[in-house]
Amino acid sequence: MDVELTVLNLSSARFECTFGRGCEGICCRNGRPMMYPEETARLDGHLPEVLETLRPAAKALVSSQGYLSRRRKAGLPLVRVAEGWCVFFHQGCVLHQRGLKPAACALFPLSKDEHDNWYVRQKGYKGEIWDLPCLDPDSSTLPAGQSLVREIALAATFS
Ligand code: SF4
Repeated sequence: MDVELTVLNLSSARFECTFGRGCEGICCRNGRPMMYPEETARLDGHLPEVLETLRPAAKALVSSQGYLSRRRKAGLPLVRVAEGWCVFFHQGCVLHQRGLKPAACALFPLSKDEHDNWYVRQKGYKGEIWDLPCLDPDSSTLPAGQSLVREIALAATFS
């Protein structure tokens, strides 16, 4: 898949998702992704089946108060957290399996800087504050240009 997208530090960045291979999915711990209206509309159509897959505490919270909190980022509502984890986390992302994952998560670790330029989040780059092992370029030898092909293709659809 050849995608034309400029990603500032792509040539030097390294990234390897190790979920299920030592990582328990800590990027979803206290994960509060923002959701676009079209994403919530799609999710709402699948909510009954999604509810059945949630952790008990998350199911109770979403059933009584919904999956969006009053918190906002860039004007968009954020997903709720139950027991310290995103309500949609249950041994992995239950939305991922259904193709309903919010773009904010599907793009990770790509992000945009204040000048609207895409970059790979990396420890020591652009003041990265999230102390995740996978954001440390020293934790892998895998070039981000290889591991992030799908994420870069998705980002290109937003550019
Ligand atoms: S929506 Fe899925 S990928 Fe995003 S934080 Fe929640 S569980 Fe993790």
